[in-house]
Amino acid sequence: MQNEYDAVIVGAGHNSLACGLHLAARGWSVALFERGAEPGGAVRSGEYTHPGFVHDWAAMNLSLFAGSPFFRQHGAEITRHGLEFVPVQHCFASVFPDGKWLGVSTDLEATASRIAALSERDSATWRWLVAEFPAEAEHLFGLLGSPMSRRGLAAFSWRLWRARGTGGALALSRFLLSSPRKWLEETFERPEMHALLGAWGMHLDFAPDIAGGALFPYLEGMANQSFGMVLGKGGAGSMSDAMVAALRARGGLVECGAEVVTIRHEGGEARGITLADGQEIRARKAVIANVAPSALTRLTGPLEAGFDRAMANFSHAPGTMMIHLALEDLPDWRASPELRDFAYVHVAPSLDQMARTYSEAKAGLLPSEPVVVVGQPTVIDRSRAPEGRHVLWVQVRMAPAVIRGDAAGKIAARDWADAAEPFAERVLDLLEGHAPGLRARIIGRRIVTPDALEADNPNLVGGDQVCGSHHLAQHFLFRPARGHADGSTPLRRLHLTGAAVWPGGGTGAGPGVLLARRLAGA
Ligand SMILES: Cc1cc2nc3c(=O)[nH]c(=O)nc-3n(C[C@H](O)[C@H](O)[C@H](O)COP(=O)(O)OP(=O)(O)OC[C@H]3O[C@@H](n4cnc5c(N)ncnc54)[C@H](O)[C@@H]3O)c2cc1C
Repeated sequence: MQNEYDAVIVGAGHNSLACGLHLAARGWSVALFERGAEPGGAVRSGEYTHPGFVHDWAAMNLSLFAGSPFFRQHGAEITRHGLEFVPVQHCFASVFPDGKWLGVSTDLEATASRIAALSERDSATWRWLVAEFPAEAEHLFGLLGSPMSRRGLAAFSWRLWRARGTGGALALSRFLLSSPRKWLEETFERPEMHALLGAWGMHLDFAPDIAGGALFPYLEGMANQSFGMVLGKGGAGSMSDAMVAALRARGGLVECGAEVVTIRHEGGEARGITLADGQEIRARKAVIANVAPSALTRLTGPLEAGFDRAMANFSHAPGTMMIHLALEDLPDWRASPELRDFAYVHVAPSLDQMARTYSEAKAGLLPSEPVVVVGQPTVIDRSRAPEGRHVLWVQVRMAPAVIRGDAAGKIAARDWADAAEPFAERVLDLLEGHAPGLRARIIGRRIVTPDALEADNPNLVGGDQVCGSHHLAQHFLFRPARGHADGSTPLRRLHLTGAAVWPGGGTGAGPGVLLARRLAGA
């Protein structure tokens, strides 16, 4: 290993890999140092329950990556190094306690007729929204894919105003400020439609009444309807593996089991890093840290009072608990056998239930009726389990990092070591109600609590799966802090990347590639 590179990158999450690959493609020498045993951060796969059953440790849905500006630019190279997408036609569905269900498939007629069975008016609205989506997408994806600065925002507003006029620009601004509930209740009449789409807000921390949250249910609904979803063949981790292979092929270094303990600087300029084993690596042009904001100043020491305070005050969303199941067979969903074909089944039956669950988790309580996202990846990608068998990716959204009590008053445990089993049983009871016989099909299971997610990857503070709340006060110009949405820090040559930086969490590689382009050109 050399001891000097153009760019030294802390952590090997997909944003680091995207950043490193773009820099390497522009001729920079690049080295990534990852504390974990393998690269990929939240995008990894492995046999976590039983041999032959491949589970996605965290992210499962790679649609953001497949649709990203980064993939448009570097996708051919990554594909050559082994990434293959598996398309999903039946994207997401919701089940309801009365036995109803609703689901979005890429076949517009199929989706519209399911909605029409509940409401002709909502079905017509859905068709209208889908027809309008390409024009909306141009602006929204343009915003989400652009650098975030006052100038960038002004340019976006100018383009929007020219295309839409004052009324249109204000309408879009109002939508961007709306809560999921505000937009959903104004748009659709049926509560099932509100829940079907509102569940997407819960993948972030946009509970139904949080301002600024309408965008995500809208985009997920429209994008899944219009383009479908994609998974990674053989597991989401295949995306990280292919990026690592592409980077290594360009001479980049990806070193695992290498924790960065210090970012060294002198005279207001970052100079390099020190690893836990004492090795020092120098950076000629940049040190790039893919760490949670609160961890940055632990590596650098105090930098500038205002910046340090903003990093320390960066707030996190409630945690996630994962339950990985190896199954004899898929769940038999009570509402319809068609649900066996869907990538995601949401068990989040109403906006009120989601709002309650979020408040309970925020108050430190184990939710009495958790929001559950059931991923069925083996329906789409048969390569992940032995013939006829399946894995289930069960994401329990909104679990407290620190347990102060149980909203149902039944679980006495106040730490995750003791609460994991009874809380997982609560989730399985809920699923058993919607898919009787599920428990009897379980061959193996692994529970990953919020604190275990954080122990595996310290960027997931308290099990926060998107490294920081995306509420308005911490998004756009304010992610991670005003004046630093481009990843800059008070030190020259030190940059922050990863989900904590604009445009935020998910597998879209936005923070990594926007930074790499700023440093080395498009
Ligand atoms: C349970 C879960 C489910 C998710 N599901 C989806 C999904 O289906 N679709 C989607 O689009 N998004 C999903 N997400 C979100 C998405 O996966 C993340 O937002 C994204 O992968 C974050 O990537 P990143 O590059 O910012 O950093 P991370 O993936 O968080 O990686 C950061 C890396 O840096 C390393 N590191 C930190 N500090 C140091 C240090 N001092 N020294 C060395 N290494 C260090 C960590 O070990 C880690 O490997 C999910 C996330 C979770 C947790």
